[in-house]
Amino acid sequence: MKPRVLILGGGIAGIAAAMKLTASGARVTLIESRDRLGGRASSFFDAKSGLWLDNCQHVTLGCCDSYLHLCDLLGVSHLIRWDDEQYWVEEGGRTTILKPANLPAPLHGLPAFLKAKFLDIGEKARISAALAQLRFLNRFEHEAQTFGSLLDDLNQHESERTKFWDPIIISACNLTPERVSALPAIQVFQQAFLAGARASRIGIMTVPLGQIYERATSAITESGGTFLLGESVSHFNSHTATLASGHTLEADAVICALPFEKAVLFADDGLKHLDERFAGMARMTHSPILGVHLFFDRPVLPLPHAVLVGAETQWLFRKDASGRVVHAVISAADDWMGLDQEDIVQKVLRDLLLRFPRAADAQLELARPVKERRATFACIPGFESLRPTTASESGQGPFLAGDYTQTDWPATMEGASRSGFAAAAHVLRSFRNQIAFAPSTPELV
Ligand SMILES: Cc1cc2nc3c(=O)[nH]c(=O)nc-3n(C[C@H](O)[C@H](O)[C@H](O)COP(=O)(O)OP(=O)(O)OC[C@H]3O[C@@H](n4cnc5c(N)ncnc54)[C@H](O)[C@@H]3O)c2cc1C
Repeated sequence: MKPRVLILGGGIAGIAAAMKLTASGARVTLIESRDRLGGRASSFFDAKSGLWLDNCQHVTLGCCDSYLHLCDLLGVSHLIRWDDEQYWVEEGGRTTILKPANLPAPLHGLPAFLKAKFLDIGEKARISAALAQLRFLNRFEHEAQTFGSLLDDLNQHESERTKFWDPIIISACNLTPERVSALPAIQVFQQAFLAGARASRIGIMTVPLGQIYERATSAITESGGTFLLGESVSHFNSHTATLASGHTLEADAVICALPFEKAVLFADDGLKHLDERFAGMARMTHSPILGVHLFFDRPVLPLPHAVLVGAETQWLFRKDASGRVVHAVISAADDWMGLDQEDIVQKVLRDLLLRFPRAADAQLELARPVKERRATFACIPGFESLRPTTASESGQGPFLAGDYTQTDWPATMEGASRSGFAAAAHVLRSFRNQIAFAPSTPELV
């Protein structure tokens, strides 16, 4: 008999688990409360623009092996556009292109960095010295300190923090250096920035994220999996899930791929009492992100993307060929959550116009800010010990998947993919004898 597996939650973690399990012969039922897959990395139909818009621009990196593997499984890898160059734009519009040279890592970034116009010679010297040390730190030994305090130890001045460290860390970790644990921040440099041209390149989906999951729906259904979309889980334990409608489903294994706050809310009380993983999850907190879709009457952004040096708006992305449609991203957006649409748009426009003065004549036709208050878990010092393992110590509990589990990554599509594959691998190991492996079964991670 093929094992029956319930997957709760159809975000990237749930999709990754479902893809692996159905390909390996398990009978999967995926329950998702929304009427579409994708969770925090998804699209919605915007009636005003008549377009499918992403909740926020999602960026991947060349080092995100598990997410890229998932894209391969979904057959969507060709839809990723890879930007090898990064465009850093200062007030007034001066632009630095950080472009990898044909040198071994970490020297690949050095020639462009040394020519960067937004940093003076002293700033470059201090940043280079810090990067050289970051490369060899054991990041796990720095989990309990903030990256800001590590920058103090590395003699970093205010100017290089504002111009260099803040834009990278705030967008990669969704917290300011003053709040984020040094562990994920060091990781950004060790595994991406300093790891080579391939690892640090930026990948952007050329279609709305929602289109990617249409592939998941057909792939999973064709392999015998089923979906319950628009159905909310209200209670679960190791072998059952009860829906808000009152209906209870049973299975040989349950993978909970809900956000951590929902997993804690809906887990069976007895389970929470016995399974120590839930105590840590109950203490985790969130950090918000704001994405702003902007539609102008003429082109305003001549670059594929822009890192805004010294601005509260960290990134702009060009969303059409001409640069008329722009998406602005503000990570660690706590101070923006209380602002209304008008104030948000004025602040973003100010950041944009200061760096792209030629856009001054353009008329903004439509703006669509999207606030995500629970965008990611907050990687503050101490967070790593709160992250749960995929399987419980006793092996009795449900399997957990989600970017918040122990993935060795911050809250990212990479972390979510890793967690989904890991949960599928645990299930497959538990039912090794019951599964007739198809010859095409992908290697388990
Ligand atoms: C604004 C924003 C920008 C981001 N930018 C990036 C980026 O640039 N690069 C990057 O790598 N990552 C980025 N992330 C993070 C990335 O989106 C997440 O790490 C990833 O999508 C998490 O996937 P998940 O499957 O772990 O969780 P989720 O996506 O939260 O999936 C959980 C699923 O469970 C469903 N659910 C909830 N309650 C129930 C219930 N009761 N019953 C059934 N289903 C339920 C939810 O609808 C959801 O589909 C960003 C996130 C946000 C919000």
